Amino acid sequence: MPTDKTKTHSLKAVPSPPQPEPNFVSDDPAQTCAICGGTGMEVVENKGARICQCRKLRSLSGQFASARVPKRYDTFHLTNYKPQTALQDAAFKYATSFTMEYPAVDRGLLLMGNVGVGKTHLAVAILKGLTERGFKCLFYDFATLLKEIQDSYNPNTFTSELGVLTPVLKTDVLVLDELGASKPTDWVRDTMAHIINTRYNDKKVTIFTTNYPDERHNDREEVLEDRIGTRLRSRLYEMCKTVIMDGNDYRRTFDRSRGAEARA
Ligand code: ADP
Repeated sequence: MPTDKTKTHSLKAVPSPPQPEPNFVSDDPAQTCAICGGTGMEVVENKGARICQCRKLRSLSGQFASARVPKRYDTFHLTNYKPQTALQDAAFKYATSFTMEYPAVDRGLLLMGNVGVGKTHLAVAILKGLTERGFKCLFYDFATLLKEIQDSYNPNTFTSELGVLTPVLKTDVLVLDELGASKPTDWVRDTMAHIINTRYNDKKVTIFTTNYPDERHNDREEVLEDRIGTRLRSRLYEMCKTVIMDGNDYRRTFDRSRGAEARA
C-alpha cells in the first residue's frame, strides 16, 4: 500500500492540450521555458503532469532542422504565397492539396517556370507542412547535392560516401531544387539517374523545381531534356505531375517596395 506521502508526490499523466501553431523554438538552453522551467514536464494543478509543449515543439524543430532547408527560406510558407497569375494560382492549389493529402498521392511534382515565380517558395512550403505532419523530408539544391556527392567520393573504394546518398534515397519526401542547373556531364546524368530511379522504384515521392522549360522557343534556348537527358525527362513524366508556372520575377516587387519606402 502506498503511504499518504507517496500518494501526494506521485503525478498522474494528464492529456496534452491542443497543439499550438508550430513555431520552431530555439534550442538555446538559455531560453528557459516559462511553462516547465526547462524540466520538460508541465505540472497541472490537482491533475498530474504531462510533457511540456516546448519539448514537442523542440522535437518538431529538430525534424525540421534535419530537412536541411537553408535559413534564407525560413519565411517561405503556403500562407504567404500570393498567386499573381492563373497558373500560379493552380500551382498554389496543387501545393496545398499535396501537403494535405500526402501520402495518398500517386506522384510527386515538377514545378517548372522562369526565375522568381515562386517555385522554391512552394516546394519549401510543402516540405514544411509535411514535416509538421511528422513525415521525414529533405531539401537539396541540385548543384549542392552533386558537389557533396563529389566531395565524398572515395578514390580508394571508387564509391561515393553512403552518408550523403542514403538520406537522399531514403527520405519520405525529397525536394530537389533547380534540377538541371549543373553542367550536364555523363557523371551528373548517371548520378541523377541513380537517385531518381532508386526513389521511383521504392515508390518515394520527389518534388523538383526547374527553370528549364519543356518547349524550345528559339534555337539557342536549352530545354530540360538537354540538361538531364531524354530518358530521365521521360521518367519524370511517370513520377511527377508537371506544374507550369508563369509570371514576372517576384523579387522585382521587393525592389519596388524598397523604392516606395525610400520615397516615403
Ligand atoms: P523561383 O524558385 O521560382 O526562382 P523563388 O521561390 O525563390 O523563385 O521566389 C523568389 C522570391 O520571391 C522569394 O523570396 C519568394 O518568397 C518570393 N515569391 C515568389 N513568388 C511569390 C508569391 N507569389 N507570393 C509571395 N512571395 C513570392
